[in-house]
Amino acid sequence: MSRIVRVMENRELEKGFDARSAMAEASRCLLCHDAPCSNACPAGTDPARFIRSLRFDNIRGAAETIRENNPFGASCSRICPANELCEGACLRSRLDRPVEIARLQRFITDEERRHNLHFLKPGTPNGKRIACIGAGPASLSCAARLAQEGCRVTVFEKTDKPGGMLSLAIPPFRLPQEIVDFDLSRIEELGIEFVCDIALSADDISNLLAQYDAVFVGTGLWKPKTLDLPGKELDGVFHALDWLKTARTEKPSEQGNRLVIIGDGDVAMDCATTAVSLLASHVKLVFCRPIAFASANIAETLLAVNMGVPVITEFFPQEIRGENGKVTHIAFTGADGVSSMTLAADKIILAVGQEQDDTIAALPDHPRLFAGGDRVNGGSTVVAAIASGKRTAQAILDTISG
Ligand code: SF4
Repeated sequence: MSRIVRVMENRELEKGFDARSAMAEASRCLLCHDAPCSNACPAGTDPARFIRSLRFDNIRGAAETIRENNPFGASCSRICPANELCEGACLRSRLDRPVEIARLQRFITDEERRHNLHFLKPGTPNGKRIACIGAGPASLSCAARLAQEGCRVTVFEKTDKPGGMLSLAIPPFRLPQEIVDFDLSRIEELGIEFVCDIALSADDISNLLAQYDAVFVGTGLWKPKTLDLPGKELDGVFHALDWLKTARTEKPSEQGNRLVIIGDGDVAMDCATTAVSLLASHVKLVFCRPIAFASANIAETLLAVNMGVPVITEFFPQEIRGENGKVTHIAFTGADGVSSMTLAADKIILAVGQEQDDTIAALPDHPRLFAGGDRVNGGSTVVAAIASGKRTAQAILDTISG
């Protein structure tokens, strides 16, 4: 079944390996000393080690390596830009092509799920209590590491479900919810307490600092950036994350609708492929940079292109036009200063980035207050958020034990 049909049917994009093909792929690994693939993983998932275990038919050991190093190992195997990280660094590509590391990671974590393996355990209690604000990849990676070291961790989340972007925004054909739930279930086994549906503000932080030994803020970037365009208030103009959340949870039909998506990042590509999967009749992607400078991973861009989405580059949006309060067109001018273009549209999706929510925009300076993830790195990949959460957990441990 082609990737396009899989998207249309909301099935997972890539087929996983079966046992035989996974072993064959693992046998392509050169077992490099000081493996560049492992050095290239920001989260320290250590592919060289788990591939070595798999090669010697030790699936349990391989799964344990992934789970111990990366609490979102199953999710990362689906959504990591592996071509830019571990696979991009793989020395096997000097002979022919890189080892398919992400797909092997997926096979191993699928086996972990199929056999209901459990590896994570809370550490011996050390009497320390930590509050983590936000339940996305950074915050939960921090929480997991601290719980493994014996801290009592409470996670405060403003929505009704942990997982952040993984649960709310990434399309299910890239990351099925059952995979996110599997990773979350393993994190929950560390005895972390979850308090959901609670929106904390900067004022609440001093109360938390009085009750906990340290506070971690990993609230991510959820406030959509917007474009100051005439007509942006018209009915039919959406921000990307809002639209993706609705698409993921309600799966509305876009049949017959013409969608114009503005933006060149992974979120814009997710909007484009999701729109096609929801049967939109015409989907167009427009951004102001040349395609070679688009910020999306090339694999995501190619998927959108292969699904028939025209990509129009080097045009700047100028004005959204409408009738009776509803969007009908969007006008652009070319980067050359001469060209212009007007596209008919029923919906316009602005995928131009996110910024910090105003509720905890500025943090007070305090030695036991820490921050990590997108709010610190400005918005990056899930694996970068995991790495940030793990690093900050170590900084917290150093502080509270010092
Ligand atoms: S870099 Fe490639 S060949 Fe070397 S250990 Fe990693 S996966 Fe194997």
